[in-house]
Amino acid sequence: MTGTPLVRIRGLKKSFGAHRVLDGIDLDVREGEVTVLLGPSGSGKSTLLRCVNHLERPDAGFVEIGGDIIGYRHDGGGKLHELHGKTVTRQRAQVGMVFQQFNLFPHLTVLENLIEAPVSVRGLAKADAVNRAVDLLARVGLAGREGSYPRHLSGGQQQRVAIARALAMEPRVLLFDEPTSALDPELVGEVLAVIRDLAHSGMTMIVVTHEIGFAREVADTAVFLDGGRIVESGAPAAVLDHPTHDRARAFLSAVL
Ligand code: ADP
Ligand code: MG
Repeated sequence: MTGTPLVRIRGLKKSFGAHRVLDGIDLDVREGEVTVLLGPSGSGKSTLLRCVNHLERPDAGFVEIGGDIIGYRHDGGGKLHELHGKTVTRQRAQVGMVFQQFNLFPHLTVLENLIEAPVSVRGLAKADAVNRAVDLLARVGLAGREGSYPRHLSGGQQQRVAIARALAMEPRVLLFDEPTSALDPELVGEVLAVIRDLAHSGMTMIVVTHEIGFAREVADTAVFLDGGRIVESGAPAAVLDHPTHDRARAFLSAVL
């Protein structure tokens, strides 16, 4: 592993009321690497991704992507200052996110879902956005489905459209929050196959998943979160097969 990390998280803390959900997270993700985030429900996985995608503002610490601090300015003395307008939009465009529930626009066709943000946020010419969308649909195995509405697609197909939609913004980092948890078991494989292809193509990704076999195969680093802290981190073989932390051991023996 060489070079500076593309994603650098330092001292990240976040509370909701009196409940500290992230309690000092330090994490690096290098360009082209896949980090899998594991942990019990409520351990802070989604909140961590939301801080990386600027959907949530941390109370302390920072998230940096390619040297840019995400969503706010950090004055070095621990103070955060909101950024506004173009800076936030530019930063957010560097991070793509895929959710458990797909979150496609139900009233738009597949093609319209794919070109909406590139045209309205990135200012891409419509013809260019359409060309890119057609290529991306082929890449996720959905060539020819441009005119379909989300309700006419299976959950696995909808999730593959959601991945294509995230890719259409050409993000530097892609975040997945339990991308297969809402799917019927027979549809999980086709979505994991797309994520696996992305990993092999060198996409930088942070993936929250309970698919341990997938994590073992695809992750460069596995991280186990408990109570808002990273309690295990390292090569997947070490973290998954020889966890040292009690909570990680119990969790992994339950899901394996
Ligand atoms: P995970 O994804 O690991 O299940 P989350 O990050 O979703 O964990 O949530 C961690 C904790 O933070 C949970 O107890 C959850 O109820 C709480 N939480 C998350 N978001 C909010 C919010 N917007 N307001 C209040 N509590 C929240
Ligand atoms: Mg979650």
